[in-house]
Amino acid sequence: MNALGGRIARLIAAQGPLSVAQFMTIALHDPQAGTYAARDPLGARGDFITAPEICQIFGELMGLWCVQIWRDQGAPKKIRLVELGPGRGTLMADALRAAKLDRDFLAATEVVLVEASPTLRDIQRARLKDSPLPVRWSDRFDETLSDRPLLLLANEFFDALPVRQFVKTERGWCERMVIVEDGRLAFALAPAISHLDIAAGRGDADIGAVYELSPAASALGEEIARVVVSQGGGALIVDYGHNGTGFGETLQAVREHRFANILDEPGEADLSAHVDFASLARAAALGGAKAFGPVAQGAFLERLGVRARAENLERANPGEAARIADAVHRLVDPQKMGTLFKALAILPASALPPPGF
Ligand code: SAH
Repeated sequence: MNALGGRIARLIAAQGPLSVAQFMTIALHDPQAGTYAARDPLGARGDFITAPEICQIFGELMGLWCVQIWRDQGAPKKIRLVELGPGRGTLMADALRAAKLDRDFLAATEVVLVEASPTLRDIQRARLKDSPLPVRWSDRFDETLSDRPLLLLANEFFDALPVRQFVKTERGWCERMVIVEDGRLAFALAPAISHLDIAAGRGDADIGAVYELSPAASALGEEIARVVVSQGGGALIVDYGHNGTGFGETLQAVREHRFANILDEPGEADLSAHVDFASLARAAALGGAKAFGPVAQGAFLERLGVRARAENLERANPGEAARIADAVHRLVDPQKMGTLFKALAILPASALPPPGF
């Protein structure tokens, strides 16, 4: 067990078992040793790589999507562009490079990056030092971001939000907890059955079935919806996940591009779970907004014109043409990121379908 594992074990000894969500929060965000807090887990040399790190067109198209939503809603004089979990700042840099072609959009926009990790904030600051707009940071999406129309982007952010896990047993649904056993962290089931509404429509789940619930994702989805409804704007959420068609255990640990054990060496692997887009869409509806999608990332990018943009880029950089074609293939191919990754948009209830949906 590493040092963070030891601290978690002492916390459990003092306070009792942790939920999987509590464990995930500490492993990702412990200020000294958490996966995100203490180091940069992104990129070819890190634990995992994301779409904007693979190809600049991804962020460019997201930037143009924002400009289109802003135009469709009458080009309000003031708007706030917020990105949740900006990683290395690459998506925002690419989005602003594309969006700045519309000078009026630039003049109306304030940029806020929501980032918990001081390490990644430093990387974002360096990446965006020549940004066409000043950038400020916020620790979380809170009420200070609710006083203007909002354009919100989130790529591979919701998968990092903590999930609680429930397991179907003979007794009913029991929450999976983290305990200490033989000096190591281990999973165990809570003795009490859960009174959460897990069983709705799932009465036929087999014994041993796992159901994941992300209260943090639902609460945030509803909050974003409320701002979009009261102030205008829209949100574009891209992530890997499912549309509520099945449930199962999706929480995973990835270290240096390989699967790792979830409880071994907390803080040294990235923990994430598939996003439940059906729950997110329900949360948006609770907030009074309309959800569009999810649509598969491949189809979404094709509709936004990824091919035409790639051709232009290849023509301008013939030496890079093979690399660009390969990067686009990774984003859109159903065997790669094209189907598992999906896009969901949240807009005011009266809005027409946004680009790509
Ligand atoms: N969007 C980026 C990075 C994805 S990694 C990309 O596509 O490359 C997840 C990002 O979310 C990291 O920047 C991480 O530090 C941030 N993050 C995760 N959980 C967070 C939380 N609860 N609050 C704020 N930021 C968080």
